[in-house]
Amino acid sequence: MNPRRFWLQLVTWVGVYIALILAPLVVAGLGTLPPARGFWIEFGVGLGFVGLAMLGLQFVLTARFRQIAEPFGTDALLQFHRQAGIVSYWFILGHVIVLLLADFDNLTFFDPRVNAPRSVALVTVLILMTLLVVLTLKRERAGLVYEWWRLTHGIFALLVVFIGMAHILMVGYYVAPLWKQAIWVVLTLAAMGLLVYVRLVKPLQALKHPYTLVDIRREAERTWTLDVKPAGHEGLRFKAGQFAWITFGGSPFSLEQHPFSFSSSAARNERLQFTVKELGDFTSEIQRLAPGQRLYLEGPYGAFTLGEAGSDGALFVAGGIGITPIMSILRTLRDQQDSRSHTLIYGARRLEELAFHDEIEQMKAALNLQVIYVLDEPSEGWVGEQGYVTRELLERVCPTSLADVEYFVCGPEPMMDLVETTFRQWGVPLRTLHAERFNIA
Ligand SMILES: Cc1cc2nc3c(=O)[nH]c(=O)nc-3n(C[C@H](O)[C@H](O)[C@H](O)COP(=O)(O)OP(=O)(O)OC[C@H]3O[C@@H](n4cnc5c(N)ncnc54)[C@H](O)[C@@H]3O)c2cc1C
Repeated sequence: MNPRRFWLQLVTWVGVYIALILAPLVVAGLGTLPPARGFWIEFGVGLGFVGLAMLGLQFVLTARFRQIAEPFGTDALLQFHRQAGIVSYWFILGHVIVLLLADFDNLTFFDPRVNAPRSVALVTVLILMTLLVVLTLKRERAGLVYEWWRLTHGIFALLVVFIGMAHILMVGYYVAPLWKQAIWVVLTLAAMGLLVYVRLVKPLQALKHPYTLVDIRREAERTWTLDVKPAGHEGLRFKAGQFAWITFGGSPFSLEQHPFSFSSSAARNERLQFTVKELGDFTSEIQRLAPGQRLYLEGPYGAFTLGEAGSDGALFVAGGIGITPIMSILRTLRDQQDSRSHTLIYGARRLEELAFHDEIEQMKAALNLQVIYVLDEPSEGWVGEQGYVTRELLERVCPTSLADVEYFVCGPEPMMDLVETTFRQWGVPLRTLHAERFNIA
């Protein structure tokens, strides 16, 4: 993407976001206003309005709208969603604390003797919001299975936003006119509807376009490639580097919906390929799938893709199974007979874990491709790079002329943190640095 367009989109989206979270304050200030109650009370109320607006927008960020995700990438969008969730938590908590400090009588809001349903609802919101943040940050340490985290995350979020809206309507201070109440109800229900859209409408669309597993084969140690073809329809078109959400089995409504990058060439989409590494309960069972198995795809998503034109080539850094979207890009470049110069730094623990090793070697004949393998536990006789991908290694092996190059990083968290930080310190512009994290919560 050209720099001007990138920055224009960034400024536009950030501007729209800020305008939307401040919109409740503007709406509250319209029409005949009730008497002012002192700065801190109004400030505390403002925090609550903005916090709830941010929570409502969280549903928009995760509604899988391509228009929102594509300029910056799903990864950046989900990181933003995560940070916005934490900030909105502090806004809601700030709302409570400031109002209590400004007037201790506000404690009656939590007094069950005054209004039991209200106090239960408000305490519930605070507990649910705390759980939303803590379980997201500590899910793995808490041993919470991803699917259950995702289910509870959605339900908790729905409850919080619904109770938040009811709280605003019941306090009623700035929403006395019916039209203001209507705005809150409609926007809250619309935000909640987006979750229903992702969990019900999208799977319903997928149900009409099933796919069949044609072949499954071992690609490397504990790594399997699935060949998939559309069953009775034209299938989908994707850009190399994108991913799809996949559900295996009888229904696309299953909680077991997992994201996998296309590993096949985008220039040949009559058969799609996904390459899956055994990692947890679901992926460890993948080898048991048999040809003929029905599956459902939702996508394509993601912006881990080469720009339409303009760059002089690409520098790819892959760690482990992070090679899959990069393999799709390389295969596509090969099919397009791309003549630009590309570099691939590919790290894995052992040679046996390097998926696509032979094909990448063959690609060197068709593409202007330099490959640097980095093995953490090499076997005897290995002459390539050893250890982890480090800053020193990047400085040593990356081409010296990196102007107009697009950067792609996909792999384990520590590797991504290091590589992204290094590239940023080298002055790589955000618009040419593409990062895909496989761990989204
Ligand atoms: C954009 C994207 C592209 C990916 N592409 C590939 C790929 O090409 N090949 C590959 O092997 N892996 C890929 N992954 C990772 C893959 O989705 C997870 O490894 C897989 O879902 C793990 O499931 P599990 O139950 O076996 O493991 P678990 O041990 O249950 O989970 C391991 C981690 O995977 C993530 N995860 C688990 N379940 C889900 C789910 N339903 N939805 C989203 N994330 C989940 C969580 O972060 C979790 O901590 C990709 C992930 C993302 C986000």
